[in-house]
Formats: sequence, C-alpha cells, structure tokens
Amino acid sequence: AAANIGVVGLAVMGSNLARNLASREGNTVAVYNRSRTKTDELIAEHPEAGFVPAFSYEEFASSLSVPRTAVIMVKAGGPTDAVIDELVRVFEPGDIIVDGGNALFTDTIRREKAVRDTGINFVGMGVSGGEEGALLGPSLMPGGSDESWVTLGPILRSIAAVAEGEPCVTHVGHDGAGHFVKMVHNGIEYADMQLIAEAYDLIRRGTGKSPAEIADVFAEWNRGELESYLIEITAEVLRQVDAATGTPLVDVILDQAGAKGTGAWTVQTALDLGVPVSGIAEATFARSLSSHPEQRIVSGVLPGPAEALVVADADAFVEDVRLALFASKIVAYSQGFDEIRAGAAQYGWSIDLGAISKIWRGGCIIRAQFLNRIADSYAQTPDLAVLMTAPYFVEALGRAQGAWRRIVSTAADAGIPSPAFSSSLAYYDGLRAKRLPAALIQGQRDFFGAHTYKRIDKPGTFHTLWSGDRTEIEAEDTH
Ligand code: NDP
Repeated sequence: AAANIGVVGLAVMGSNLARNLASREGNTVAVYNRSRTKTDELIAEHPEAGFVPAFSYEEFASSLSVPRTAVIMVKAGGPTDAVIDELVRVFEPGDIIVDGGNALFTDTIRREKAVRDTGINFVGMGVSGGEEGALLGPSLMPGGSDESWVTLGPILRSIAAVAEGEPCVTHVGHDGAGHFVKMVHNGIEYADMQLIAEAYDLIRRGTGKSPAEIADVFAEWNRGELESYLIEITAEVLRQVDAATGTPLVDVILDQAGAKGTGAWTVQTALDLGVPVSGIAEATFARSLSSHPEQRIVSGVLPGPAEALVVADADAFVEDVRLALFASKIVAYSQGFDEIRAGAAQYGWSIDLGAISKIWRGGCIIRAQFLNRIADSYAQTPDLAVLMTAPYFVEALGRAQGAWRRIVSTAADAGIPSPAFSSSLAYYDGLRAKRLPAALIQGQRDFFGAHTYKRIDKPGTFHTLWSGDRTEIEAEDTH
C-alpha cells in the first residue's frame, strides 16, 4: 500500500488530474484504466510522476493506503456505474470513492445512497476547467459526506486552482450538491457565451466593424467591470485569421453551436424547481436553433424589417451594448444562483452561495472579477432571495438599464435576434412589476378548469360560477 490516492480512467481528464495530484508534495498516485494501453502510455510518458500502476481492481485496491481514496474519471453514465460496482467490490467500509465525471446530480444522489449501505463513502465532484484545469488547477465542487471531506479536503485544496490566495474548492454540500452546482455553473456558462455572441453580432451589424476591430473592443472591455476569461478568449477568437482563406476564422466556422447537455440539464431542473432561468434557457435554445439547418432553410421566406440597422454614433452604440451585456450577465448569474438556492432547499443541502462564487474565480470557464461582487453580496445578506437585488447589482442595473432598453429595442427594430438580451430584460421588468397579468391567467384557469383563485382583499380561495349566474363562491383550494 504505497499510494495515498488513486485515479480510475486515464483519458485526457483522468491522466491530467493524476499528473496534477502526483505533482503535489506528499502524494503518491495509483492509476488504473480499463484498457491497459492508456496506463502503459501514461507511465512511460511521465516517469517523473512516480505513478503506481495497477492492472486489476484488486491490485488497485491493494496499492492504496487506508482509507482508500479513488477518483473516477470515466465517461459519464453507464461506465461510471460499472466502475463504482468494481470499486465497491474491492474497497472496504470507510474508503472513499469520488466521481469526478460530469454526472447528472440525480444519478449522484442515487449512487451515494446505494454505496452508503456498504459503509463506503461516495462523493460526486464537479470538475471545471477542462483538460488544462485538470492538469494545472481546476475549480472543484465536491459533494458527499462530512467524513469524506476530512480526508479529501487537504488533497483537493492542494490541486485546485488558486484565486486571490484561496484554493478554488469547497465542500459544497451532501450527496449530489457538488454535481448540482457544477451543472448550474455550466448553465451560466451557456448564458454568458450567448450574451457575448449577441453583443458581437450587434456591434458587427450595427457598426460594420471587422472581427479584428471588435476584438479590440472586447480587449478594452476586459480591462473594466466585464473582465473575465470568456471576454478575454472572445478577443482571441475574433482576432484569429484563417490560414487557408486569409479571412477571419469566425467567418469560416459553421454557425451551428454544439452542446454536451449540461445546459439542458440546468434548464430541465429549473423547470422542475419552478425557478425562471430564462437567460440560460434562451442560450440553450439559441444553440438548438442554430444547429437545425433544415429549419433555417426558411431564412429567405420569412419577411424582416424594411430598413437595415443604421447606427449614427458607433462609440455610443458600443457602450450601450457593453452596458446591455453587463446587465444581462447580472440577470444570468442571479438566475443561476437562485436555482442553486432552490435546489438546496429542495434537496436539503446547506450551500454557502458566497463560497460557490469564490471557487469559480479560478480554474473554470466563467472565472471573472465579477464573482467577487457576488461573494460580497452574500457576505452582506446571506439569505438574499434574488441575487441581483444586492446593492452593487441594483446600482449597476440602474446605470445600465437605459442602454439595455435601447439595445433590445434597436435589435428588435432591426430584426437582429437577441434572445438572451431581451429575455433578461423581460425577466428584470417582470420582477419589478407591481402587478403582473398573472391575475388574468388565474381568471382564465378558473373559467375553463375551476382551478380557483385568491383575492387581494381577503383570505380564502374563490371560484366564479362561470357557466352559471357568475356569482363568486368560496371554494376548496385546488390550486
Ligand atoms: P471520456 O469521457 O472520453 O471517457 C474515456 C474514459 O472512460 C477512458 O478511460 C475509458 O476507458 C473509460 N471508460 C469508458 N467506458 C468504461 C467502462 N465501461 N468501464 C471502465 N472505464 C470505461 O474521458 P474524458 O477524460 O474526456 O472525461 C472523463 C470524465 O470527465 C467524463 O465524465 C467527462 O464528462 C468529465 N469531464 C470532462 C471535461 C472535459 O473538458 N473533457 C471537463 C470536466 C469533466 P478505456 O480507455 O478502457 O476506453
């Protein structure tokens, strides 16, 4: 028993995480992969890591010191279950199995429950930052029991990204909490990317600037309140020239966005929880719309506005877009954090939302200055019902709203799709509204389905006898 931690699954993520672990003082890493070649290659290519290779699960278990700790990095779904079964077979009570794959949090809840009966600890852990993060320092979102955190905490702190001196890892909450938070992280990432894409599109179509010129705009934005990894890489992508054609790369990339499903999970879960994450939903649907060429064939059929967008003052327009982007981004993050709050309430997790915003400051795709403002907001008011009602965001939204409205209406007039910008603004105005037309919907529901309604002026539940004499009666509450 020479190793204090093991990794199962040595594709790109697993091997990079194993190398990261091995590079830290005090760690000896056992490695196992279903097919032997990956193990042999890793050992041959990285003799400096001092890996302890294993070629069976029995050998893997006996190479680990007790309590045995293993991180699984295999294809999510069935393969993860298969590996868990094997590890449960060779591990003992008190040992720790960590799933670092992109599992759906409900699978993690199921697995934790099943493994718990054996006395072995099961920890679902979100890992963000892709290959490079796994190697150099990811943002880590472990769930699981307090007991396993005692062993895992120091190891994970040693390999995580560091932001402003703090490691980007926290014990998120029990069972599926870590994978839940990772899921929402990805949903926010979808929204942030869509918003940036809409900003680019508006500037390009509004001002006629070239991609390289727009890269300069993003580079400039990256020095202000929008500073973030995504803004930074946007400038890089826009500046890239295609070697084959000599045109901007962005102009030769097929305009159909792919997705691996975590955005959809975020939206599906939000629907189940009844939390409006309209920015994330629009971003997810925008990818779907883009990737249906058979539907987009109609582009020449559907009429658009007669007049093209003409922007008189390009600098003022670009500044308006920047503010619209900032405001919409606040909405997207606010909605994401509200979903985490709702998930925590639903599943009984105690999640420190400020700590979550802090562990996203390094390692992951949505790392940004802005996350410090979220942490500050929760530090001031831990039970904020709506993140964007914190003073910093209220000020920012107040400052941005004029520009935001101008951009959304300009986009609509010009026929430029801006689903995430406009739905974020609609959400903002929905929350602001003193009265919503939901009253009319309740009336309609009562009319066709006797679903009853409540009144603003007295307690109780009521129904109007719509098909009778239309008097109102007090009713049982049937929702
Ligand atoms: P893959 O998702 O491509 O998975 C390949 C690995 O899974 C190989 O080691 C493979 O073993 C193993 N595997 C597949 N089926 C089985 C099985 N039935 N039993 C045992 N092992 C099996 O690898 P990645 O490195 O890309 O990702 C690993 C995990 O990390 C995934 O869950 C992914 O979603 C997650 N993740 C990935 C990120 C990324 O940026 N790529 C970011 C964050 C998380 P074999 O060599 O024998 O085929």
